[in-house]
Amino acid sequence: MPIQEGDLVLIQTKDKRFLKRITPGFNINYGKRTLKFEQIVGKEYGSVVEDFYLLKPNLESIILYGFKRKTQIIYPKDAFYIAFKLGIDRNSTVLEFGIGSGALTAVLSQLAGKVIAYEVSQEFYRNALKNWETFGLCKNVEATNMDFSEAEVQEEFFDACFVDVREPWLYLEKVHKVLKKSATCGFLLPTTNQVSQLLKACEGLFGGIEVMEILLRRYKPVHERLRPEDIMVAHTGYLVFGMKIV
Ligand code: SAM
Repeated sequence: MPIQEGDLVLIQTKDKRFLKRITPGFNINYGKRTLKFEQIVGKEYGSVVEDFYLLKPNLESIILYGFKRKTQIIYPKDAFYIAFKLGIDRNSTVLEFGIGSGALTAVLSQLAGKVIAYEVSQEFYRNALKNWETFGLCKNVEATNMDFSEAEVQEEFFDACFVDVREPWLYLEKVHKVLKKSATCGFLLPTTNQVSQLLKACEGLFGGIEVMEILLRRYKPVHERLRPEDIMVAHTGYLVFGMKIV
C-alpha cells in the first residue's frame, strides 16, 4: 500500500533517522538535500528518494524517535527482554507501575491480553496517554493516575508485574499479594545499592531471583570496515526478576 497523507514514515539517511507524519507542506532538510511531501506521497514503503530511505516504522522506532519523553524510559533493548522474562501472552493480565512516558507499557501491551497500569504524576500520566494516542497504541491498557499504594487491587489477580519506581521495596508486600502464585515480577533499578536493598526485601516473598543487565553493542554497518560504533549507551539499569513464593 503506497504512503498516503497522514501516514507515519521512518526516514533514514546515511547516519540519522527521523520519524515523521507526512502532511501537506512537510519537508525535511538534511545535508544538502531536501525531501518534500510531494516526493513521498504515493511511494511504496521501502522506496529510496534522493539519499533518503522511506521505511515503515515499527514499535521500536516509534518509542525511540516518536515518544515524547518526560521521564527516563525503559529502552527497547530492556523492554523486549522484560516482556519475554515476564512470560506473558494474550491470556495474561499484567500489572505495571509507574508508567512514566509509557514506553514499557507499549511493549507489554503488544503481548499481553490486558495491562493495568498506575502513574502517580498527572503530568507524566497525561504525556503517556498522549504518546499512546498519537501512535494508536495501548488499546488494551487500563491506566490510572494514582499512586499504586492507594490502588484497590484484587488478591491473586495478576499473571505478571513490572515495577519501575525508585523505591520498589515499599510496595513489595502489596505486589506479592496481588500476584498469582509463582507469577513473575520484574524491576528496573539504575544503581547497585537499590538492587541490594530490593534483594533484601524480596526474601520470603520472591524466589528464583535473577539480577542482570543488558549491554547492546552496535556496529557500523560498513561491510569493508566492520567495527563497533565509537560510543555506546553503557548503562540503562539493572533488571531484577523473581517469582512469587508462598
Ligand atoms: N517505565 C517507564 C517508561 O518506560 O516510560 C518509566 C518510568 S519512570 C522512570 C518512573 C515513574 O514512576 C515516574 O513517572 C513516577 O512518577 C512513577 N511513580 C513513582 N512512584 C509511583 C507510585 N507509587 N505509583 C505510581 N507511579 C509511581
